[in-house]
Amino acid sequence: MSTSAPSLLLSGEQLDRRLEELLQQKRFSPPAHFAATARGRGAAPDVLAESDQAAFWAEQARTLHWDTPFASVLDESNPPFYTWFADGTLNVSYNCLDRHVLAGHGDRVAFHWAGEEGEQRAITYAELLRDVQRFANALKRLGVGKGDIVGIYLPMIPEVVVAMLACARIGAPHNVVFGGFAPEAVKDRMKVSAAKVLVTADGGRRKGKTMPVKAAYDAAGELDSLEHIVVVRHVGIDVPMRPGRDVFYDEILAAADDVCPAHPMEAEHPLFILYSSGSTAKPKGIVHTTGGYLTGVSSTHKLVFDLDSERDVFWCTADVGWVTGHSYIVYGPLCNGATSVMFEGAPDYPHRGIWWELIERYGVTVFYTAPTAIRACMKWGAEEPNVHDLSTLRVLGSVGEPINPKAWLWYHVVVGRERCPIVDTWWQTETGQIMISPVPGHTETKPGSACQALPGVVADVVDEKTGESVVQGQGLLVLKRPWPAMLRTLYGEDERYVKTYWSRFGPETYVVGDAAIRDQDGSLWIVGRIDDVINVSGHRLSTAEVESVIMTHAKVAEAAVVAQSDASTGQAIVAFVILRGELEGTPELEAEIREHVARYIGKISRPKCIVWIDELPKTNSAKIMRRLLRDIMEGRPLGDVTTLSDPAAMADLARRVAAAQ
Ligand code: ATP
Ligand code: MG
Repeated sequence: MSTSAPSLLLSGEQLDRRLEELLQQKRFSPPAHFAATARGRGAAPDVLAESDQAAFWAEQARTLHWDTPFASVLDESNPPFYTWFADGTLNVSYNCLDRHVLAGHGDRVAFHWAGEEGEQRAITYAELLRDVQRFANALKRLGVGKGDIVGIYLPMIPEVVVAMLACARIGAPHNVVFGGFAPEAVKDRMKVSAAKVLVTADGGRRKGKTMPVKAAYDAAGELDSLEHIVVVRHVGIDVPMRPGRDVFYDEILAAADDVCPAHPMEAEHPLFILYSSGSTAKPKGIVHTTGGYLTGVSSTHKLVFDLDSERDVFWCTADVGWVTGHSYIVYGPLCNGATSVMFEGAPDYPHRGIWWELIERYGVTVFYTAPTAIRACMKWGAEEPNVHDLSTLRVLGSVGEPINPKAWLWYHVVVGRERCPIVDTWWQTETGQIMISPVPGHTETKPGSACQALPGVVADVVDEKTGESVVQGQGLLVLKRPWPAMLRTLYGEDERYVKTYWSRFGPETYVVGDAAIRDQDGSLWIVGRIDDVINVSGHRLSTAEVESVIMTHAKVAEAAVVAQSDASTGQAIVAFVILRGELEGTPELEAEIREHVARYIGKISRPKCIVWIDELPKTNSAKIMRRLLRDIMEGRPLGDVTTLSDPAAMADLARRVAAAQ
């Protein structure tokens, strides 16, 4: 419980003091008012016996509508090629739409859509179902059949959801590419997956600017497999259309029939391919299937966000082009009949208070975002959220990177007003669903820890050499039992699938690629990617821990640390630091930050050098790309940069590194 009464609407020094005070607290019980009614109350996520895991998931799966009920639950006869519910059939779009409309919820809002320039649209379940059926028919007329791949390259507009569900309705796996990617990257992904149709837009908008999308895609060259391009008129600019190949979305929708039956699909039929964000390596084409995926995302959406579709307004701020958007904007919420918010724009356009304004406008109750966004909001100051009524919020979520305790506490105090449980959710594109997370109303939380594996998930921390469980301490994070929303393979690369995830300790242990610490209570702390772990004089240090401590320094806004080869210690720590406001880096401040780290973790973790920067290299999904920082420090050519959000920033960074050394 809080050390003193929750204080509302703090800012400036008062807020800094409150955060300092809470930094010492380290543990947060579920708020009593919440625990009394929460879905997760009484849930004991850690006590399921191993033999009960599959039974647990079968029970979750039975909450879906199956056209053919499954008899087989988990088939483990050919590891690591596991299957779930394989003899059952169902249709994802039926589960996400028809089911709710038939139950009398057709008038319920599925999405409150907010456009960049203040436009508002409310789309009900009945409207979504009508458009999905029409677009599914239109796709069929373009020659798309079961098993054909459809590329989707769209901004955050409702049509992206229509396109995804229309594909699901007819069994055409979609390959959604983040709307902010360059046309070359899109073309690449279309080519590799041999997409037959691409659904895109005339143009996109970003912070008041309009850019052509379809024309830019055309300029990137031809693709043989692509038979048609469907163009959504979003910004209203002229588009070059090639007769016979290119068609307008609104025109084919208007011409299409209203009824398209939802054909039952085998549970293992592929639902989509999605490329991972490329933080560590060349992006991987991750394949997800129908029945297990829907089971995993709908059940975790209910449990982790304590979701009640009659009561809640859910807002996940991710882009639909990432797995978070697939699972927790589209499939989880729609399968659960939830009302969601979908926002086209950036968190600082038209102004830095837009998120809080939208929470107030739509009465958002559950808010799910990323640490990088929370840190940006911290930089902009508590004054922005403080002028809005955020009292509807009940649960706050975080995903994408380890959340440093200071950002966690800011989220807790400034956004959650010390009332809302925070769920720090660990998962991956590969896992499809949230795997490790507190259950709100049940789990005692600790800032910076994702806490425990959810029911039905068996996570372990193991020694990297022997594979033995580490009872307390650091090791590799692994998953020991198959789970329904797991990836089935990498598209067209079965061997890479086995090698990447299942070769280190055999085909029954999924190696996540992240390192983690298990503390004395059994709580899990994700410390970062294996490749990012730093080894100084034989001590294995976590990037997350060092960065978190640097970020508790009052003058620091954001930090990333990487290893650099060092003749005496093997590796040494280099810290890239962004200062708050207009502050300038000085040798005195460098010494101060090094001492700060020494005091809170130990001398061994002191950065050898600090590079002052304005911007960190991030993927398009806003994750720090430490591998590029390492490349720069080692003077190597940069590795794959296709998913870097701002390639120009790298040259500036190289100059600053040269200046710092
Ligand atoms: P690639 O695999 O192509 O390098 P990526 O790993 O960044 O890209 P994602 O699948 O989007 O692609 O990200 C999953 C990773 O994000 C996890 O493995 C983990 O490193 C990190 N992550 C996600 N959520 C959390 C969290 N709550 N705490 C700590 N780390 C997290
Ligand atoms: Mg990854």
